[in-house]
Amino acid sequence: MREIQMVDLKTQYERLKPDIDNAIFSVINASSFIRGPGVKLFEGELREYLGVRNVVSCGNGTDALQITMMSLGLKPGDEVITTNFTFIATLETVALLGMKPVIVEPDPGTFNISVEGIARAITGKTRAIIPVHLFGQCARMDEIMKLAADNKLFVIEDAAQAAGADYIFPDGTRKKAGTIGTAGTTSFFPSKNLGCYGDGGAVFTNDDELASKIRSIANHGMKVKYHYNDIGVNSRLDTLQAEILRVKLKHLDSFNRARQDVAAFYDSSFSGCSQIEIPEREDNSTHIFHQYSIKVRNGLRDELKKYLQEHNIPSMVYYPGPLHMQKAYSYLGYGENDFPVTTRLCREVLSLPVHTEMEHDQLKYITDTVLEFFEKQK
Ligand SMILES: *Cc1c(COP(=O)(O)O)cnc(C)c1O
Repeated sequence: MREIQMVDLKTQYERLKPDIDNAIFSVINASSFIRGPGVKLFEGELREYLGVRNVVSCGNGTDALQITMMSLGLKPGDEVITTNFTFIATLETVALLGMKPVIVEPDPGTFNISVEGIARAITGKTRAIIPVHLFGQCARMDEIMKLAADNKLFVIEDAAQAAGADYIFPDGTRKKAGTIGTAGTTSFFPSKNLGCYGDGGAVFTNDDELASKIRSIANHGMKVKYHYNDIGVNSRLDTLQAEILRVKLKHLDSFNRARQDVAAFYDSSFSGCSQIEIPEREDNSTHIFHQYSIKVRNGLRDELKKYLQEHNIPSMVYYPGPLHMQKAYSYLGYGENDFPVTTRLCREVLSLPVHTEMEHDQLKYITDTVLEFFEKQK
């Protein structure tokens, strides 16, 4: 059996090697490392895939969030609502720009931001909502868009974990994660569902004027060379990464299907185990399983993690500490007991290996070992 990893990028590379090597050497041969033709081509191909009017690539998913908020003209003191159960980048960029992050609980079943929580958090100072499509399925976008419309708020979808997921509106229309709100952001960090071989990110929007602002701000605030209209940043996807992403984008749907197959195997293997809660699915979204996260009851999560480790099975806790308890954010003034749902999730969640190269014997070994652990508790 091949060694089990959380994400097996090496085996994936070996499968795609001729195309990836070609892509890399073509960039080196042309030596157009920055703003080479591959960047525009990739943006066009991703735009097509997503069915969105504009894709602006940038340096990483964190920059994508920051640039989007700068482009929307959000100002210090503005309140931005997001979830307490996410990767720090979502909160960090809000705080970095001097705005006030207002965090709300996730739904304990789907892990996505609670719409009721958002509704309660809106004040006269609220300017934007950042739903995160956590672990690969979309937050409840139609309700979030309605709340935003009623209160004149921007919606920035953090779609870093949901590349290729579909949101299904009540009337059956489908849109890709990140293309529904005012803007959507993503990350091409290597382990993401659409990952490159370094850092990368992008912003999506159907608003052409906003797209032009985003493009400018990502490039030092200039549209015409050496003329600066805005205070910007330097954030770009390099040509090597763009060419690698062009190869991988062609496989994204099959990558996501492979992850869904892994999830289906886990689901059925754990269905008889009362101490494991399998990940609940959103009613209105496909799930592309950036993570497959179970909840472990009875305080056994850490012991299970240790047991798996002893059997050479990696697992990860996303996320181990609620954001409101992080030292850097103590100035927000939240109390320890303000977020019981997040606090409980941080104690119970465990993400199991899920990637595009998993084999049946690996999956069987993982699920057998998990079930054996719970047998031993009896
Ligand atoms: C990965 C991730 C980011 C940040 O992306 P980087 O490319 O690492 O900057 C932002 N938000 C979420 C939810 C993520 O998972």
